[in-house]
Amino acid sequence: MDIPPRLFEKLLYICPEGIVCNDREGNILLFNASAERVFGYTRDEVVGKVNVSSLYPTGGAREVKVCLYSEDYGGRGRLIDYETEALHKDGRKIPIRLSCAVLHEGEKEIGVIGFFTDITARKALEQEYRESEERFRGIVESASDAIISVDEDRNIVMLNTAAEAMLGYTKDEMVGMNFRRLMPPKYGDNWEQIERYAASGDPLVLRKYVELSALGKTGKEFPIQMSMAEKKIRGKKVVTAIIRDISARKAMEEELRLLSITDTLTQLYNRRHFSSLAQKELERAARTKVPFSIIMIDVDRFKKYNDTYGHNEGDKVLKTLGKVVRKNFRTMDSSFRFGGEEFVILLPETCVAGAMVAAERFRILFSEEEFRPLPGNPPVTMTVSIGMVEYYEGYTIDDMIRFSDLAMYAAKNGGRNRSVSYESLINRPVSYTGPGS
Ligand code: GH3
Ligand code: MG
Ligand code: MG
Repeated sequence: MDIPPRLFEKLLYICPEGIVCNDREGNILLFNASAERVFGYTRDEVVGKVNVSSLYPTGGAREVKVCLYSEDYGGRGRLIDYETEALHKDGRKIPIRLSCAVLHEGEKEIGVIGFFTDITARKALEQEYRESEERFRGIVESASDAIISVDEDRNIVMLNTAAEAMLGYTKDEMVGMNFRRLMPPKYGDNWEQIERYAASGDPLVLRKYVELSALGKTGKEFPIQMSMAEKKIRGKKVVTAIIRDISARKAMEEELRLLSITDTLTQLYNRRHFSSLAQKELERAARTKVPFSIIMIDVDRFKKYNDTYGHNEGDKVLKTLGKVVRKNFRTMDSSFRFGGEEFVILLPETCVAGAMVAAERFRILFSEEEFRPLPGNPPVTMTVSIGMVEYYEGYTIDDMIRFSDLAMYAAKNGGRNRSVSYESLINRPVSYTGPGS
C-alpha cells in the first residue's frame, strides 16, 4: 500500500518530538504541534514569518550552526543529541536536546530540519539530585564521626573527611580497601560478630552501638564506638558504619576507675579494691591449690609521731611507706592502704615462708628511711610490725585478715619492728613454695 503524501505531513505534525524545518535563509517552513507546545507560538505565528534564529537566545542559533557544520557532533551536516537552550515566546529559556540535519536537493543545500525535546524536567531532576547530593555530602562532611560505607564484600565505597583524619589514610587509599584492615587482627572474633550483625538486618541490632578497637594506618590501635545501618541500593547491600573515636572517654573512664580504687596519699590501692581482688585470689587458690599469702603492716608508735611532729609529718611517713612498698613488692603483688596506718599486701602464688622473706626485706628497707620532721635536728627513723598468713583450705578473706592481724599484734607484743606469721602462732608447720620475692 502506498502511504498517502498528506499522511507524512500529519505524522510530522503529531510527532511527540518537536520538529522545526527552515530554508537556507532561516525562514521557518514547518513547525509541528510539539514545537508549538515548547515555544508557545502557533504554527501560523511562525511559518513564513519568523526566522529560526529567534527561536534561540542571542548567539544560540550561531552556536548550533557551527556545531552542525563541524565534524564533531555526528558528522558534518549533522548534529546529534546536542544540549542547548531554546527561547520561548514569553522570553523564558528552555533547555532542549536537539538533533538536526542539513537537507539537500541533489547537491544543493536547501535547509535544515531539527528535532528537539524539552529537557526541563530532566534538568530539574538533575539539579535536585545535585542539591540533595550536596546536602548529603555537607552533612556527612560536617560530621565529626567517621562515616564509612562498604559494599557486600566489605570493600569501602565511600568515606568522609573525618574518617581520613581518624584512620590516617587518604580517601584514595581507603576506597576499595577491605574494611577488615581497619580492625586489629586480634579482634577477628569481633569482626565475625559485626558481620553477623550486619547480615541479620535486624534494625534494632543495626542501630545499636558496639564498642571495639580500630587500627589506624600507623598501626595505632584505639577504642571506637560503632553503629551500622544497612541499605539496599539498586539491589545491592551497602552497610554504612558511623565510627566515633572514644579514646578520650576511655582514658577518662580508666582515670576515674583508678581514682576510685587508689589512695591518693600513698598511691596504693584502697580498701574497697582489696575486697574484690582478695576474693578473686581466694577463689583462684581454692581452685588451683596454689597458695597465696596476706601481709598486714602497721606503723609502730605512729600516734606518738603524729603527736610530736604533727599530722602533716605523719602523712609524709605514710607516703614514704607507700613508696617503699611499691619498690619492695613484685608488680603482681597488690598493695593496699587498709586503714589509717595499716597496710595489706596480697601475694599471689606465695606461701607464708615466701611472704616472710618479702616482709622482712620490706621491714628493714623501711626502717632505713630517714625522716626530718624538725629541720636542723638529726633524722628520725620509723619501724613497722608485720603479721601474715597463708591461705588454708576453708579460710575466708575475713579469716585471713583476722589471722594476719593477730600475727601483727603478736609482733607488737613481741617488741615491735618484727614480722610474725599466724602459722607460727598456731604451730602449723610451713613448707616453702613460691618465690616470695
Ligand atoms: P602501735 O605501735 O601500737 O601501732 O602504736 P600506734 O601509735 O601506731 O597505734 P594506734 O593505732 O593507736 O595509732 C595509729 C595512729 O595513726 C592514730 C592516728 O592519729 C594515726 N593516723 C591514722 N591515719 C592517719 C593519717 O592518714 N595520717 C596521719 N598523719 N596519721 C594517721
Ligand atoms: Mg594501727
Ligand atoms: Mg600503729
